[in-house]
Amino acid sequence: MEWKRTRLYSIVNFTCPYCHEGAFFVSHPYDLKQAGDLHKECAVCHRRYSIEPGFYYGAMYVAYALAVAWSVTMYVAMAVLTPNASLMVQFASITIGLLLAGPLLYALSKITWANLFFSYRGVARTQEEMAAATKGQ
Ligand SMILES: [Zn+2]
Repeated sequence: MEWKRTRLYSIVNFTCPYCHEGAFFVSHPYDLKQAGDLHKECAVCHRRYSIEPGFYYGAMYVAYALAVAWSVTMYVAMAVLTPNASLMVQFASITIGLLLAGPLLYALSKITWANLFFSYRGVARTQEEMAAATKGQ
């Protein structure tokens, strides 16, 4: 499979889950005023990024999994790199690391959630999609 057609390409590059070309987010993850804000539809293929109100609430499950994975990774890294660190130092380091990675994990959770439900279709729309779009869906 061509790399550009994979879901991982869309997730890593924060691009549209349908065409993998248009930007998914309004800004980068560390622009905290617009963190996690996404466009209503793709600027390239004009497909909508949400299928129902509250669609992205489900991204919190992905965010939880990413936060746990990040914390475990930091714990293992600290256990290897600084084996004599106290429990308090380890806890503080993991907490600070989670806070620093928070905006990135939040953005990754949203784009991952979108890629669970939307798949690559390319830029050109099918006849069925065109008909649905003109009906206002
Ligand atoms: Zn698109």
